Amino acid sequence: MKDDPAMKIQDYWVFGEYGGVNPSIEDASTFTFLSAEKMQELFEHEVEGCFLYSRHLNPTVHYLAQSMALLEGTEYTQITASGMAAISCAILQICSSGDEIISSRTIYGGTYALLKNYLPKFDINTTFVNILDLDAVKSKITPKTKIIYTESISNPLLEVANIPELSKIAKENNLTLIVDNTFSPMILQPHKLGADIVVHSLTKFINGASDCVGGAICATHDFVTSLKDVHNGSAMLLGPTMDSIRAAGILKNLRTLHIRMKQHSHNAMFIATKLKELGFRVFYPGLEIHQQHELMKRLMNREYGFGGMVTFDCKTPEKANELMLKMQENKVGYFAVSLGFYKTLFSAPGLSTSSEIPPEEQQQIGLSPGLVRMSVGIDNDIEITWERMLKSIKEVGLA
Ligand code: PLP
Repeated sequence: MKDDPAMKIQDYWVFGEYGGVNPSIEDASTFTFLSAEKMQELFEHEVEGCFLYSRHLNPTVHYLAQSMALLEGTEYTQITASGMAAISCAILQICSSGDEIISSRTIYGGTYALLKNYLPKFDINTTFVNILDLDAVKSKITPKTKIIYTESISNPLLEVANIPELSKIAKENNLTLIVDNTFSPMILQPHKLGADIVVHSLTKFINGASDCVGGAICATHDFVTSLKDVHNGSAMLLGPTMDSIRAAGILKNLRTLHIRMKQHSHNAMFIATKLKELGFRVFYPGLEIHQQHELMKRLMNREYGFGGMVTFDCKTPEKANELMLKMQENKVGYFAVSLGFYKTLFSAPGLSTSSEIPPEEQQQIGLSPGLVRMSVGIDNDIEITWERMLKSIKEVGLA
């Protein structure tokens, strides 16, 4: 069989209780037992096909977990109530007080704030590096380092991490490589490229409907079981549980992800090319001018394209805001944070999703205050969208 994540998800057949083509929703927080021994056993370890309590595991959520594991090619998955819950639970399961993390400096603002402001309260400290500079990564490893953390395609500058090389560094130094693959499901499979743990915000492309928040930790069976451990598991004890009704909805949407990703990528490539032709400074891994274009071509599953995210520079925050409001007025899409929606979304990361990063650091990493990040939708005719966008660009005097 072709080693394609979409095929694997399609070939995962789960029926409803009466043969329904979608699995039944197990609308229950707790489960009955016919023997006291079985209940006790479940407190000690997982038992295939047995469920205890929905904060631990729910059958409907389990179907979504299995599908996410197929998507990422890992043994198993922990589903969480948000992407931030996935990131924080994965980190807290590995790190104890006194440990250190090496992280890419261009990451989602919430993750940056977690590492920079929140985890130091527990004496878990992070060194931020340019993740493209492998020597810098190596030079920051200390005996206390436990994790190398990166996004596969970074938010918002769309830098592509060299996962195979980072994996080598991690393995040589007995570290865990965690990769956030929120921007590039189907396109990149970080575990196959060497990552130990892959985290996701399901809120974005995977669900694709901007109607809920969710997350996933794709990893080995042992690691996921440790997250659920009743005595010591971060997911079990901190409790960021996804509801079964939500999990059923996300699972249905996951089944069309392959088609959506192709259309997001096709449309984003079109917009990125047009913006570049107009003279904008554009960040898109599908453009030959992108610094990691060749690396991306080597790592990606080609049929899904280069992804739906495009970032471009309007130089000042005032111009960026003016353009975004004009684009909303001209029906290009919505002036809103988040990504992966079927409609185009745009925001200025410097003032929103990356605002947790102090201005001096934003400047250092090349995050201009006039950047606009677009999550390009799955519009059927992207040329019409472009005409509206060009009209908006002209109306605010950027062309
Ligand atoms: N990772 C990335 C790359 C993100 O962009 C986001 C949110 O924007 C998150 C993680 C956090 O996800 P959530 O909002 O589902 O907690």
